[in-house]
Amino acid sequence: MRFVSFEAEGQAVPGLVSPDGKVLDLRSIGFTSLLQFIESGSEALERAEQFAREVPENPRHALEAVKLLAPIPKPRKLICVGLNYRDHAAETGAQIPAVPTIFNKFATAVIGPGAEIILPRVSKSPDYEAEFAFVIGRGGRRIVAENWSDHVFGYTIVNDVTARDYQRATSQWLMGKTFDTFAPMGPWIVTADEIADPHDLDIQMEINGEILQDSNTRELIFKIPDLLAFLSSVFTLEPGDIISTGTPAGVGFARKPPRYLHPGDDVVVRIPAIGELRNPVVAEK
Ligand code: MG
Repeated sequence: MRFVSFEAEGQAVPGLVSPDGKVLDLRSIGFTSLLQFIESGSEALERAEQFAREVPENPRHALEAVKLLAPIPKPRKLICVGLNYRDHAAETGAQIPAVPTIFNKFATAVIGPGAEIILPRVSKSPDYEAEFAFVIGRGGRRIVAENWSDHVFGYTIVNDVTARDYQRATSQWLMGKTFDTFAPMGPWIVTADEIADPHDLDIQMEINGEILQDSNTRELIFKIPDLLAFLSSVFTLEPGDIISTGTPAGVGFARKPPRYLHPGDDVVVRIPAIGELRNPVVAEK
């Protein structure tokens, strides 16, 4: 199943996208947000499945007619993994890491599909990063790697937009990663049961029709079980937390010549098994 958040009456409301491309409003079965839906666990999924089967006369919107938001518009945690593709580690000249590099983006950076990525005036090197992300269903502390699938609600797409000059100004990457609008996410969360192998998914970045990143999640150095165990060895993972697993080779700064983001760019992250995340780029006014 595919789950979205969409705008209705000025609020982010939860929806289920039916196979024929209609959005069903999950408020009809008592859910006020997608986060609350995920927190409600397997019982919520069963109710949603039944709701979709009943072909309700309840509100059904054409997908094109709704304004999609990021599936979790204000995640409690948006955790990112750096240097996690073999091909990207190689292009940056970094060693294959022994320990995952972890940073985060604040919820204020999150935008939905179609929303503008705003290039800050202060950065000369805004860059793109196509990423595959997983969403926590059942939370926990000290999760055992082998039990990883008990904790994954589903998968989505993130563009880890990065101001390279701010990222590199100090050893801490955070300030280059979390400008407002620097975390496009969506267009939906695909539930885990729909993806046979999350470590064998094609992933691409396309800007203005040109493919700039083209890889597969099999290149991931630290995979979902490793990441769940490592992260939860330090802190509690909660339902709706999002972990963006890192970007493959082909980012702007590593190209010759560098290819940074420009106003007017049409940026698409594509993971065919999930969908496409498309955002326009504008200059800060
Ligand atoms: Mg990244």
